[in-house]
Amino acid sequence: MRVLNFAGGPAQLPEEVLREAQEAIWELDSTGVGVLETGHRTPAFDRILADAIRDIRTAGDIPDSHEVLFIPGGAHMAWALLPLNALQLGDRADLIDTGTFPTRAHADAVRAASLIGAQARTVWSGREANYAALPTDGDLPDCAGARYVHYCSNNTIEGTQWRRPPHVAAPLVCDATSEILSRPWPYARHAMVMAAAQKNLGIAGIAIAVVHREFLESMRDDLPVSLNLRALHAQGNRVNTPPVFAIWMCGRMAAWILRNGGVHAMADRNQQKAAAVYRALDECAPFYTGAARPHDRSVLNVSFRCATPALDKAFVAEAATHGMVGLEGHRTAGGIRASMYNAMPLSAAHTLADFMRQFAARMG
Ligand SMILES: *Cc1c(COP(=O)(O)O)cnc(C)c1O
Repeated sequence: MRVLNFAGGPAQLPEEVLREAQEAIWELDSTGVGVLETGHRTPAFDRILADAIRDIRTAGDIPDSHEVLFIPGGAHMAWALLPLNALQLGDRADLIDTGTFPTRAHADAVRAASLIGAQARTVWSGREANYAALPTDGDLPDCAGARYVHYCSNNTIEGTQWRRPPHVAAPLVCDATSEILSRPWPYARHAMVMAAAQKNLGIAGIAIAVVHREFLESMRDDLPVSLNLRALHAQGNRVNTPPVFAIWMCGRMAAWILRNGGVHAMADRNQQKAAAVYRALDECAPFYTGAARPHDRSVLNVSFRCATPALDKAFVAEAATHGMVGLEGHRTAGGIRASMYNAMPLSAAHTLADFMRQFAARMG
């Protein structure tokens, strides 16, 4: 009996895609070979890769100026590869610190930059205010002269989300892990958008990177091949054995998004889910406190807490008895978090909202 899984990631996948996976594990497209056994130098994998890239491009409306790469290792690997590949001696990377994941990305950028004789600096941080709010353009320096400016468009743990990218005078790099293909997004305005797959787009172990071709071509080419983004691109995502199944899943998720109305339909439905849960949260105030300032609330990750950690724990435990799991907040943040990515149906948000009202009425 499957439950509603509100976990932050790895996250719930659509039933349709799981059924396709069951079949493909046995046999992929009448090849007589299952997807887990499919070689990365076969026509079958050529097709998997080409279809995945085509459908991600179509779903994201990604312009021809940008390449789609698959980076094994997830978002942390992409964070490390970015400064290693993009920075040269004397360069500077600017970073906007809006939460736990950006903080970690920045720490790695500092390490990578110091190896290269480059610099990575934080130009804005929401840490003092518990990351409850995002900066407005007026809060940010223009970042002129930076090789790139890194920001995180949806802060998975704190539950904040940018309405649009920041305006700065340097190439933009976005970590969109927890929101990739959940709404229309201006890829054309970015030097690079990276996203691990295990939230909106598949399973753990792979990140996609949408990289402007000129940005890619301007990268250094003296890194070992497995760390070298130009080599990854030049060798067709096959510097070594790629995670074939993880890439297949990205392709099936992108196809599922397209079959279900594309990112506009995803965005509509995600808005409705978020509205249902935030409505319950606000109606029950002050029993629940939202983590994010209302203006910056994330549509995908609703972070909140009760008056005491004991109540948070009771909420999570009782929700589990109603078939809702994964509601505990991130281990670094505590509290409660409901993650509702593309695959989460609208009915699940209503089930959660009803439970929130009922729990508050009983315990408040
Ligand atoms: C989950 C998440 C990550 C971490 O992804 P890994 O694949 O574990 O490296 C990074 N950034 C954001 C915004 C996330 O939500």
